[in-house]
Amino acid sequence: MVIFINGSYVSDDTKISYNDRGIQFGDGVYEVVRVYHSTLFTATEHFERLVRSANEIEITSPYSVEEYIEICNQLIKENEIDNGTIYVQLTRGDAVRNHTYPTDTQPNILLYTNTAERPMQDLQQGVKAITTEDIRWLRCDIKSLNLLGNIMNKQKAVTNGAKEAIQIRNGIVTEGASSNIFIVKDDKIITHPANNFILNGITRRVIKQIADAEGIAFEEFTFDEKVLKDADEVFLTSTTQEVMPITEIDGENVNQGQVGPITKRLQSKFDEHIITNHA
Ligand SMILES: *Cc1c(COP(=O)(O)O)cnc(C)c1O
Repeated sequence: MVIFINGSYVSDDTKISYNDRGIQFGDGVYEVVRVYHSTLFTATEHFERLVRSANEIEITSPYSVEEYIEICNQLIKENEIDNGTIYVQLTRGDAVRNHTYPTDTQPNILLYTNTAERPMQDLQQGVKAITTEDIRWLRCDIKSLNLLGNIMNKQKAVTNGAKEAIQIRNGIVTEGASSNIFIVKDDKIITHPANNFILNGITRRVIKQIADAEGIAFEEFTFDEKVLKDADEVFLTSTTQEVMPITEIDGENVNQGQVGPITKRLQSKFDEHIITNHA
């Protein structure tokens, strides 16, 4: 497999330095971009977000959005990716370990491809989730490499036989460990506002577009665990999980354990979006 590191297409056994700030501090940002039938999906939005995340921590992206898309297309070609993802990681660079930002280093950029099929069975049947305390920091709007809170909560979900952890901060449902959370109540879609407590998902934005086009109310409000558990439907969104129904939370059925009608409608419109949208 061919990967891209700092301007070169190289073999996937190429090493990066132990001095990379991403290794020592998690000092960097990342993206996961979807590839459907060798075509990038919403790549412009992902790379705009990468640049934004980087800017928020004072890392200057070495490439423009257009350049990232070119690199991705080259990797898709070289690695013959049909359905898959591209992982993109941008760190502050190599420096002798010191908390302060180094002034004399260049950022390190890494891109590599994965093969991944769509999770068709889960999309049709729905998945289980648990609720748990949101133990993350207060800049969840940055897609940071620091994912300890996220991975600890995801592991807790899996240990309890579930797929996702629905995180709750001060009584408010924020988001999943690697997804955005939505409820449907009285035919309205409700999700946490895009502020510093959540990562503003690209899939979340696609759902907003679809809801607007379909005339389904899309409201950005905070809600608590009781509202979550009284919802008509619950679903999550992410680049790899798409529009994923949640049919059980903390061992209790949502919508009698069935995928709800609005979730199904969004799924079918999302499928159309995949077919018609290119980078
Ligand atoms: C990446 C991510 C999401 C989903 O974002 P998409 O752009 O839809 O993939 C949601 N929450 C967190 C914490 C994430 O890291």
